Amino acid sequence: MRTVKLSQQALDQWVAGLIRTQAVIGVQAKGDRFEFAPLGRSSDLRLDYDVTILPPKMFFQPAREPLLAFDGAAGFKTLLSDEPFVLLGVHPYDLVAILQMDALFAADNDDIHYRSRREKAVIVACDVQSASPNGFAGCMGTATVSQGFDVLLTRVADIYVAEAGTAAGAALLADIAKAPEADAVNLARREQVWQDNQKLLRKHDLRVSLKELPALLERSYDHPVWEEKARRCFSCGSCNLVCPTCYCFDVQDEVGWDLKRGVRCRTWDGCLLKDFATVAGAHNFRKSRAERYRHRYYRKGKYMPEKIGQIACVGCGRCISACVSKIANPVEVYNRLQEES
Ligand code: SF4
Ligand code: SF4
Repeated sequence: MRTVKLSQQALDQWVAGLIRTQAVIGVQAKGDRFEFAPLGRSSDLRLDYDVTILPPKMFFQPAREPLLAFDGAAGFKTLLSDEPFVLLGVHPYDLVAILQMDALFAADNDDIHYRSRREKAVIVACDVQSASPNGFAGCMGTATVSQGFDVLLTRVADIYVAEAGTAAGAALLADIAKAPEADAVNLARREQVWQDNQKLLRKHDLRVSLKELPALLERSYDHPVWEEKARRCFSCGSCNLVCPTCYCFDVQDEVGWDLKRGVRCRTWDGCLLKDFATVAGAHNFRKSRAERYRHRYYRKGKYMPEKIGQIACVGCGRCISACVSKIANPVEVYNRLQEES
């Protein structure tokens, strides 16, 4: 696969060309923060961002997603999105989260709605240029990636190195056929960026080995930390909604006035929300805040590793920033369990 070097001007021209020919979602400023949104001009792209408010999962699993339309007389029709798009500027930790979602939505019952969006997307990842205030991807092994992207951009000095990881990525880079191949100096500098990012993205220092985390949680079910922290929890669910590895959803039928037609929709849900675990007969099997608070850590550090072999926290730090009570920091909780176990 090609690995080329691009000046800032060449990158701008390449992005402008992509925008002319296809739908492009790219990182842009939103006030003094950043978001993924449809990109209209290459000059709006901000590859120097630290972290986006919401992760890019929303382009594969939207917050509200019609799954099917039904009509009493005509039956139902599955609704699928088949719009191709380029997702531009995904940081390595968010890419790892997307790869986890790929595995989860393909396991057991293959989710055709997720897959149809995912298969239409070309992901241009970008190595981190500015560390976010709460990121700890360096502790989670997600500060850099060597696969899973279609194209990987890395800023080295005043140029970008662009590597194609798939045939789709190579096709995207074919638009800049005249770009020179990256040389040994460029590649050595990229290697240095990767090494630096492993150290830079450690705003919180996890002192538990990732391998030991499931066993640590196994013996910490009755630890007082769950009750203590949960006393300050508002059950607002923000920590779930901003998390790139949280994918839980609710499915509801929205029926029209004629009681014949409607749509079946799924919407984001979160295990910290009070009604998340309410089932028939109004029974709630995680009624207390402490049970719900604890569940989030167990899901990420024990249940998901048991299912997919990876910790379902990529260290983006969004939950830490989003929690108004300042109790959602996984590093703080896991370190405390380690110290007191
Ligand atoms: S648990 Fe927090 S730090 Fe970990 S991936 Fe989710 S939002 Fe990011
Ligand atoms: S963001 Fe904080 S307050 Fe809100 S549900 Fe999560 S832990 Fe509780």
